[in-house]
Amino acid sequence: MGDPRFHVWQVAEAFGLPVTTRPGLASSGSLQLIHGRVTILVNEASRARKRFSAAHELAHYLLALEENLPLVEQLRSRKIESYCDRFASHLLLPRGWLLRNAEGVADDLPTAIALSTWADCSVPAVVSALNDRGGWNRRLVSWRKFRSGWRLMSVVGGRRGATPVLADPHMLNVATEAPRVYTLPFVSERGMRDIATELVRRGPYVYGLPREAFSDETSDDQVVAVRRGDASEGGAEAGMG
Ligand SMILES: [Zn+2]
Repeated sequence: MGDPRFHVWQVAEAFGLPVTTRPGLASSGSLQLIHGRVTILVNEASRARKRFSAAHELAHYLLALEENLPLVEQLRSRKIESYCDRFASHLLLPRGWLLRNAEGVADDLPTAIALSTWADCSVPAVVSALNDRGGWNRRLVSWRKFRSGWRLMSVVGGRRGATPVLADPHMLNVATEAPRVYTLPFVSERGMRDIATELVRRGPYVYGLPREAFSDETSDDQVVAVRRGDASEGGAEAGMG
């Protein structure tokens, strides 16, 4: 896969799997038997998120088909979930392509947004892939606005378990579609600290790229709850996306 802008639906269909959007699905995606045919269902979401969910479900299917891993057993395994996320990430953001395009550019939000638009992937998916194989070591925090207010959705990069919390989520209202740096108070296990953070608004989401680490943490794992983070209101989960 040299160019990431292929049609995921066609890739899935090459394996005999139709892809259907099903609004209100309890998760971002699932595999179901419909009229005797295994079908990938994806929840209503942005196209980038639906692409990621479909690629993730395709990985589950291939594990069942090629590795004889029953789907019910796959569902219980966090390792498998993480594998399927990585499969989707490599399929949608081919690392060779990523390396060529990340070379010599700043590790900031404008770069992540440009690559996200280009590859038709979400900003968290792009930052995760750049941390993996683009020479980045950045943490990206995603929030989503619901009627009840802002909710932390996902954290990419950084040390697991050290998720920083914004002291006052109302501050996210300042974010616009043009990335800008704000000084934001974050609360972590080490107390409160002001951290210069790039913020950008994309639809119901705000993405924050802090310019410094939160404490003496080491950033060694790449994806923390990226898919989990896509939950839509009401508990339904929606993708990395
Ligand atoms: Zn899964």
